[in-house]
Amino acid sequence: MASTDAAPPWLRTPDDANALAPKVWPERAHRDADGRLVLGGIPVTELAERFGTPLYVVDEADVRARAARMLAALQTAAASVGTSATVYYAGKAFLSGAIVRWVTEAGLGVDVCSGGELAIALAAGAEPARIGFHGNNKSVAEIERAVAAGVGTIVIDSEIEIERVADAAARAGLVQRVRLRVNSGVHASTHEFLATSHEDQKFGVSLDRAVELGTRIRSHPSLDFLGLHCHIGSQIFDSAGFAESAERLLAAHAELARVSPLPELNLGGGFGIAYTAADDPTPIEEIALGIAEAVATGCRVHGVPLPKLAFEPGRSVVGTAGVTLYTVGTVKPVPIEGGWRHYASVDGGMSDNLRTALYGAHYSARIASRESDAPPALFRIAGKHCESGDIVVDAEYLPHDVTPGDLLAVAATGAYCWSLANNYNHVPRPAVVAVRDGAARVIVRGETEADLLARDAGLDASDRSDAAEGADA
Ligand code: PLP
Repeated sequence: MASTDAAPPWLRTPDDANALAPKVWPERAHRDADGRLVLGGIPVTELAERFGTPLYVVDEADVRARAARMLAALQTAAASVGTSATVYYAGKAFLSGAIVRWVTEAGLGVDVCSGGELAIALAAGAEPARIGFHGNNKSVAEIERAVAAGVGTIVIDSEIEIERVADAAARAGLVQRVRLRVNSGVHASTHEFLATSHEDQKFGVSLDRAVELGTRIRSHPSLDFLGLHCHIGSQIFDSAGFAESAERLLAAHAELARVSPLPELNLGGGFGIAYTAADDPTPIEEIALGIAEAVATGCRVHGVPLPKLAFEPGRSVVGTAGVTLYTVGTVKPVPIEGGWRHYASVDGGMSDNLRTALYGAHYSARIASRESDAPPALFRIAGKHCESGDIVVDAEYLPHDVTPGDLLAVAATGAYCWSLANNYNHVPRPAVVAVRDGAARVIVRGETEADLLARDAGLDASDRSDAAEGADA
């Protein structure tokens, strides 16, 4: 069946719908002589046979290499202007014991944003002093736990939190190092950024209160004020938004630094990755240099010493290292204006990848179990959930002969997929398998229906007898 011009403008008809676009897939992903996609040295057909589908596959060497590259790029850029940089891995992208070990062995700290993330980071052996704790509504219990654990920094997100953290530290008889999250009014996404005087969002305090609240933090003997923090958004492809934000923050930073030394400036995360062949993020080395130069210039203008820099990349460390494998269950051509759209439904969906439904995210996919000579046709990869918005890949050209039983691989699912996974329709969450040098191992066990049943207290025999007694009374 012929394809259609209903494809989004950014999606080009490929010369070869089997080809793996550079930058979108793990660095060493390739097809073997049988046309099978190979990840971490293992054909995906073997992974599917051994672990089932859907399956999250993470290329361990890829994560380690990307973590090391981020660290080197940001530290080299900082050094080139005469300062240093600390890099925290933003665990919200994908946190598990193995990931914590890989990124910390690469030299990164860990940024967590809930008691649960803190628990995983600590259990995996992350050095508490190299953990940063975020969140716009940390509970007092979470703050107390972080202080007691010796977490290196807590990022204060609101005026109310100043006293909460100060009191928790005072009760513990400790001095807690803190940052203040500031909303710079710059919001960036991909290659565009928006600069306003205020941003209407829940995170941080407004820039015009940064000096007042920084001074308030300094008035607490149980707090050690490291500096300002800002995170301007995600999937950012160049340094312009970071530079604009840093420039704005530096006015407040300088005012505070003139009173007493302010050692750090944390510019958050948000470095973009290629989800499709149309995405072309600037190499991190160049972005890092652009940011470092903007900070150096700002400090010269304001006449203050260069602070140490800190960053919190998440997606750029794990995103491209992850691939999700699905088995095709049904295929149907649907007539649409000007042609046909082919729906391939897979055995997962919005429970393992919510980003498409949540943000309209775009992905790339390929038949992973074989190559095909069939001409490319426009596909939409749908999930198995009872929801019309349950789409995994909105638009992709795949060989026209996609058929039930084929394995499909969706690229760049290492970030914010497993983290956002859910049990919609009581679908168990898939396992995460790490591949490296031809070996595969489960790093997060997949859920089973028994797991789902086990949490349902209403199925418990004692609950049923309680209800019966209640009904009799
Ligand atoms: N730091 C903070 C404060 C964030 O809110 C986020 C993401 O939401 C990150 C870092 C990581 O962003 P990314 O995964 O886009 O690098």
